Amino acid sequence: MPKLVLYKDRCKGCALCTLACPKHLLEISTEINRQGYYVISLAAPGKCNGCGLCAEMCPDMAIEVWR
Ligand code: SF4
Ligand code: SF4
Repeated sequence: MPKLVLYKDRCKGCALCTLACPKHLLEISTEINRQGYYVISLAAPGKCNGCGLCAEMCPDMAIEVWR
């Protein structure tokens, strides 16, 4: 099963990854990181297929995908 690692303190809440995910699994949460941004969260981790598009899209390298 693929594993998604979120480096929340790197996230700037730009939401580009939410647009990139073909399954619409990423969303901006209500959690605020140390930089003061709302960070993303992964809804339904079991549905992630590990395609890696979210990680490619993120300009801040806040996502890592392991297959
Ligand atoms: S693309 Fe990166 S910085 Fe932007 S919301 Fe997603 S994880 Fe955060
Ligand atoms: S790896 Fe693919 S399916 Fe999983 S959250 Fe990222 S874009 Fe969505």
